[in-house]
Amino acid sequence: MTTKSLPRLTPTGTCWCGCAKKVGAGSFFAPGHDKVAEAALLAVEYGSSVAQLLHGHGYGPGHSVSARAVSEGVWRKCPACDYVGAPASIAHHTKKAHTAAIGEEAQGVER
Ligand SMILES: [Zn+2]
Ligand SMILES: [Zn+2]
Repeated sequence: MTTKSLPRLTPTGTCWCGCAKKVGAGSFFAPGHDKVAEAALLAVEYGSSVAQLLHGHGYGPGHSVSARAVSEGVWRKCPACDYVGAPASIAHHTKKAHTAAIGEEAQGVER
């Protein structure tokens, strides 16, 4: 696993979307403003196209970004099917999609 080393960022007390709102210590964004900033970045740099974003980073139909996320260890693959996602998403997915298999163990016998 060779997770890309990202620079260490420190929250500054104001929202990083640029709206100048004060945010609590430890937060980069006012609630929801991370999504606004993400959308704005996508609009400015990639014409609001996720396909352009992927292409710009060397990903696309022949080079799966989700497979890369799994191989980098930041995402997981569901042990029971092809679903991939962040560890929290996998937990949620497993609960919803595979309750028959996991349910008995987790919930015990109530009959
Ligand atoms: Zn903001
Ligand atoms: Zn699954």
